Formats: sequence, C-alpha cells, structure tokens
Amino acid sequence: MTRRTPGIPSEAVARLEDRLRQPEVRPEEKRKRAGGVDEVHILWTSEGMSCDGDTVSITAAMQPSLEDVLLGAIPGLPKVNLHNKVLHPSLGGEEFMRPFHQAANDQLDAPFVLVVEGSIPNENINGDGYWTSMGNDPATGEPITLNTWIDRLAPKAWAVVAIGTCATYGGIHAMAGNPTGCMGLADYLGWDFRSKAGIPIVNVPGCPVQPDNFMETLLWLLYQAAGLSPMIPLDEALRPTWLFGKTVHEGCDRAGYYEQGDFALDYNSPKCQVKIGCWGPVVNCNVPKRGWMAGIGGCPNVGGICIGCTMPGFPDKFMPFMDEPPGGRLSSTMTRSYGTMIRKLRGITNQTVNKEPKWRHNNTELTTGYDPRWSR
Ligand code: SF4
Ligand code: SF4
Repeated sequence: MTRRTPGIPSEAVARLEDRLRQPEVRPEEKRKRAGGVDEVHILWTSEGMSCDGDTVSITAAMQPSLEDVLLGAIPGLPKVNLHNKVLHPSLGGEEFMRPFHQAANDQLDAPFVLVVEGSIPNENINGDGYWTSMGNDPATGEPITLNTWIDRLAPKAWAVVAIGTCATYGGIHAMAGNPTGCMGLADYLGWDFRSKAGIPIVNVPGCPVQPDNFMETLLWLLYQAAGLSPMIPLDEALRPTWLFGKTVHEGCDRAGYYEQGDFALDYNSPKCQVKIGCWGPVVNCNVPKRGWMAGIGGCPNVGGICIGCTMPGFPDKFMPFMDEPPGGRLSSTMTRSYGTMIRKLRGITNQTVNKEPKWRHNNTELTTGYDPRWSR
C-alpha cells in the first residue's frame, strides 16, 4: 500500500517505492547492458623526451590509486592490464615489448589506451640518426623510433592520452633554441585527431603531472570504455574541464593577501607572491587546491611561485622565472591602492569583533537590554 506523505504526490511515492523494490543491478551487469568492454590494456610509452617523472608521480596517486585500478577494487571497471616499463612486473626486453607489437599488428586480445609520456621529437630533422626509440624491429634488428610507434598505435587505440607537459605541449624540451624540434602529441597527430572510439587526444599536463589528476582522468576513460560514463569533457587545450577549469589564484591560500594589496618581497614571507614571479592569476591548475600528493603541498601555498607548468605556453611565455609577470605589475598596483585602504578598515573591524559585547559581566545588574514585557 502506498503511504501518504504530506506535500509529496502519492504517485511519486509509489514510483519511488517501486524503484526500491527492484533488485539492485550489479556494476558488472550494468557494464554488460551498456555494451562496455570487459578488459583494457594500457600501453604506456615514456620514451618521449622526458625525465620519466610522470610515471614516478603516478605511484603516489590515491584518488584512485594505481593498485585499486589494477587489482579490480573499483566496481564496474573493466579488467586493466598496465604495460609501463617502470611499473611492469617483467624485467623489460621482448616480454615487455610483446603487447606493443601485438597491438600494432591487431593481435591484442582487448582494446587499448595509448599513454604517451615525454615530448615528441621531429624525426624529419634527425640527420643520420634518430632522436628517441623503443625496442627493435624483430625483422631488421633496427631501433623503432617513438614516432613510428605513435604512427602505428594511435589510429588503433581506443583512446590516446598525453601525460605531463612534455607530452601534452612539448614542455621544457620544446623551448626556443632546442635542437630536436620536439612538440606535444596534438602538434604531432593533429589537434583534430580522433581515436578509434572517436575521442580527442586527452591532455593531462603538469611538470610532473599531479598523480590524482591523471588517475581521475584514466578512471573516467575506463568507465567510458565500460559504457558507464559519457564522453569525457575537454577544454580547447584538450584538458579535462573539471580539473583545469579554475586558475591557481582562485585556489591559492594566499589570495586573501592579494586582495588586500599585501605582497611578499622575498620568499620567506607568507604573503602573495605576485611581485616575486607568481603567474597564478592566469594559469589553469588545481594543484593549490589538491596539493602535490595526499593533499600535501601545492606550489604557492607553500612558498613556490607558480611558473605555469600546466600551460601550452610553458616555459617560454613564463620566463624569466622569478621576475614579476608583466600583467601582474598593473593589477597589483591597482590592488595595492584600494587594498591598503580595505586592509586598514578591516583592521578596525577586526579589533571590534575581537572584543566581547559589554553586557557579558558578573555584576548585580542585567544589562543585556532584556525587556520582561516581551515574555507576556
Ligand atoms: S601567490 Fe600567486 S596564486 Fe597565490 S594569491 Fe598571489 S598571485 Fe595569486
Ligand atoms: S601551481 Fe603552477 S607551477 Fe605549480 S603545478 Fe600548478 S601550474 Fe605548475
């Protein structure tokens, strides 16, 4: 019998009760009904120009951790097989390279996500040699360049992910004066590239990447492969919107000082660092909110100026580091003029609210203003 709940139409209550009576659908069943895949390989190459720092960073992820994803602790995810040379149980060599060759030859037993770490050199200008390679061609014994691997694997990948600023936009290796002509993955494959599943390249920048940013992105893609989440939302620079939609400044612990025109002039100060080189107001990054790992750190929060390491223009457009950003001079001058006045006024209010009201005393007379007529 449908209960009557005041203010709620009885049909709505009936529908809800009906839903509650339905047996719970297990995540695996939902995945099957949605036509999602049961198993995914992650083919991860860190043979781009990099320090392998993103691979190392991921070992600190907690939301979720790599172990949770690989050991099947998260309901609804497909089984995940990770092939990363540092995080793989094999000792490398042919055993490690086998799934890469299989994927290139359409022999892999499940769809794969291609993860690229490090910037992509321009092999059109390599002279007589090559810039970077991974494994050898079994037929010729010759090294296979990273670029050849990308050419072979990207069109067959279910999704393609660039991890870290080197792979996303070129990073430090791609700065002015570099000899390799290197670039980000989207510069190499084209910004309108689409994977086999119709997904654009997914960029997760950072130098190194914030570990949970990457793992959350991977989690979204895995749920998408399982048929349990919609298309991943990306901004114009192909970054996940929910991770890179806010600026460093909007999440900075020191933003209150900025607003009051109170600026640090050296690195020992807890105040806003814009005058000593912080680019936070114009940089998309959630690290001050999220911390570096386990919620700890987060550049400007702990005394490090933001140098824009997640940005397509990094590093050239942010140099010289530690000089006041050109735009920061104008905005901080304006902030200083009204901020100084606001700080003084707030100081007066702060003193007032730091004192208790005068009727709180132990005298013989009640001075709260209470009027006995109110209780009649
Ligand atoms: S330290 Fe940087 S990010 Fe923080 S308030 Fe100042 S300018 Fe903004
Ligand atoms: S706060 Fe700035 S320097 Fe720090 S990780 Fe984010 S973009 Fe890079």
